[in-house]
Amino acid sequence: MRAAAKMIKELYNVDEALAEILAQAEEECAEYYRNTAETVDINQIKVLKAMQENGLSDIHLQGSTGYGYGDIGRDTLEKIYAYVFKSEAALVRLQIVSGTHALAAAFLGNLQRGEELISATGRPYDTLHKVIGLHDEYGSLRQQGIDYQEVPLTAEGRIDIARVLEKVTERTRLVCFQRSGGYAWRPSLSIAELEEAIRTLKAIHPHIICLVDNCYGEFVEAREPIEAGADIIAGSLIKNPGGGLALTGGYVAGRKDLISKAAIRLTAPGIGSAVGASLDFNRGALQGLFMAPHTVGEAVKGAHLAARFFELLGYPVLPGWQELRTDIIQGIRLGSPERMRAFCRGLQKACPLDARAVPEPELLPGYEHEVIMAGGTFVQGSSIELSADGPIRPPYDIFLQGGLTLSHVKIGLMLAAQEIRGGIR
Ligand SMILES: *Cc1c(COP(=O)(O)O)cnc(C)c1O
Repeated sequence: MRAAAKMIKELYNVDEALAEILAQAEEECAEYYRNTAETVDINQIKVLKAMQENGLSDIHLQGSTGYGYGDIGRDTLEKIYAYVFKSEAALVRLQIVSGTHALAAAFLGNLQRGEELISATGRPYDTLHKVIGLHDEYGSLRQQGIDYQEVPLTAEGRIDIARVLEKVTERTRLVCFQRSGGYAWRPSLSIAELEEAIRTLKAIHPHIICLVDNCYGEFVEAREPIEAGADIIAGSLIKNPGGGLALTGGYVAGRKDLISKAAIRLTAPGIGSAVGASLDFNRGALQGLFMAPHTVGEAVKGAHLAARFFELLGYPVLPGWQELRTDIIQGIRLGSPERMRAFCRGLQKACPLDARAVPEPELLPGYEHEVIMAGGTFVQGSSIELSADGPIRPPYDIFLQGGLTLSHVKIGLMLAAQEIRGGIR
């Protein structure tokens, strides 16, 4: 640690005081690191067993071209995902372009005109607003005659299942839950809380489909949402389950009938999941999944550390450094747009790619406010790699996530803090 702190000072001109505060934070986080390591072990066993039980072999790493008929690599990858998530079926495709796309296929495939969707965790993640059609966007759920209601979380950030039950009508077909807070200053949803909510809902309405937006949640706990009673989950491969190695893609996992309907939405009626060339996707997706428990563990440790470090520097953080994690996101309330920009400049200087770039706020497709992002990543936009982002709006919260290695997170934290303090050489 001493020698590394000296190097950081020499090479990046980080104040010694900051390195000392980080060292203190790290000592205090030791217990949480140990808990994380236990979860990593459990998830590593799960993933390894999934690969062995499905007879994973060299041949499965090869991809297909054209239609992709009979692509045994793709099919084995999907069986492995299904095993890991304890689901009947899974779609894991490079043709799923993002997490939003995976979720949109799940929603659009499983809702019909006249039916209704309820969000049980308040306003969903920004990019889903246009999928739902909050402003009646073309092709959205609303425009196709699907109604939408939402139930805000309680003041403590918990699911208000009583109010969800009040809102349910005979037209309610699907209730969705978002595990991660997204760009909201709220606690993420633990598997235990999710389980309780789903059990209560299903006790009265067993036929309602429970969908969980699992983005950023995979492998943070020892169990996943299907084990808590969810019917279908979706996520992105350039977040947790891709382990930093998947080059693109998304997944949907869950009940067989629901996955088939999502597949029809993804490709076309009559085609479903039978087509879709995997090109060179399989190796990265599989090796990435193998690495994911470890990589997510590094990110979770980094999140505990970031929370304690920035708390010691005087900023409100969410979750608190000692809190149980169920996603990899760390919110830091920086309190001004200037500090958001400085944080991102500093973090960018710690990235392996584009370290000389200067992040600027920008309006991105699917988002409503200007967003600032830092992340010089090997995979474009990957947020299992060390990255930070946040919409430029009061109270100016930045959301930090990822880190393929804890060592890298430490460098990122110091450079971000240094830049806020007045600049790096
Ligand atoms: C990232 C994310 C999504 C989907 O985002 P993409 O950028 O489209 O992959 C959806 N919901 C949550 C909670 C997310 O964090």
